[in-house]
Amino acid sequence: MWNTAQRLHAALAGQVLTRSDFRVPRYATVSLTGQLVTEAVARGKHLLIRTGNGFTVHTHLKMEGYWRILPADGTGLRLLGRSHQLRLVLGNTRWLAAGYLLGMTEVLPTAREEQVTGYLGPDLLGPDWNAAAAVARLARDPDRSIGEALLDQRNLAGIGNIYAAEMLFLRGIDPWRPAGAVDDLDALVELGRRLLDANKERPGHVTTGDTRPGRENWVYGRAGRPCRRCGAPIRRGEQGPPGQERLRFWCPNCQR
Ligand SMILES: [Zn+2]
Repeated sequence: MWNTAQRLHAALAGQVLTRSDFRVPRYATVSLTGQLVTEAVARGKHLLIRTGNGFTVHTHLKMEGYWRILPADGTGLRLLGRSHQLRLVLGNTRWLAAGYLLGMTEVLPTAREEQVTGYLGPDLLGPDWNAAAAVARLARDPDRSIGEALLDQRNLAGIGNIYAAEMLFLRGIDPWRPAGAVDDLDALVELGRRLLDANKERPGHVTTGDTRPGRENWVYGRAGRPCRRCGAPIRRGEQGPPGQERLRFWCPNCQR
C-alpha cells in the first residue's frame, strides 16, 4: 500500500485536477476538477487522496483492486479504455491515475477520515507507529490464535497474509498458537515492521532477502515443497471464523 500511495502521490500531488471521473453510482455526479491534490497517503490498507479544498477520496483495494498511472495523452486515454472494471479516474495535465475494481470508493470531508480509518491499530509504516500499543492490542485476546490476531487490522495495520505467514515462520511460531502463549510479541512486531520497511519501495514481498523469482518467501505459497531450513514439506491450511477463513502456510517442524 505504501508503494501505491507513493506512486499516486508522485503523479497527483501538487497538481490541480483537470479530470475527475467517478464510475460508482453514488458519486457519479461528483467532480473534483479544479481542486489541488495535496497528498496521497496510505493508512493501513486504506488509501487517502486529499485535496486543498478539504476533501478526501477514500479507496480500499479489497481483494482485486489496483491502480494504474498513465500519461494524460491520447495513448493514456486509449489504455484507459472503456473497461467495466474502472471505478475512478483522477488526472491532471500530465498523468491519469486510474483505479480498477476498487472495493471501496468514496469522497468525504478530510476532517471525517478518522471515522473510516480510525479503528485501525498502529500503522507499521505510519508516522504514529507505536510498538508498545501494537503489542498490547495483540495481547488483548490471549486465547485467539496468533495467526488471526496478526491479520486483524484493529491490532496493527498493514500486515497481509504473506507477511503474517513469513513473520511466524521466522520467529518459529505455529499460526495456531494462542496469542497469549507467544512470549516475545515485541520481537514479532518489530520483525513485521522491518519486513514491511525493507519492501516498501519495491513490488512484491521479499522476506528471504533473495529477490530471484521463486525464492522470495520461506513458506507462503510453498505448500508441499521442502522447508528451506529443515526440508519438511510446508503445510497449507485455513484459519479464521467461518466465511472469513484465510490461507496459512507453515513448517510443522520449525514452527511450534
Ligand atoms: Zn522447517
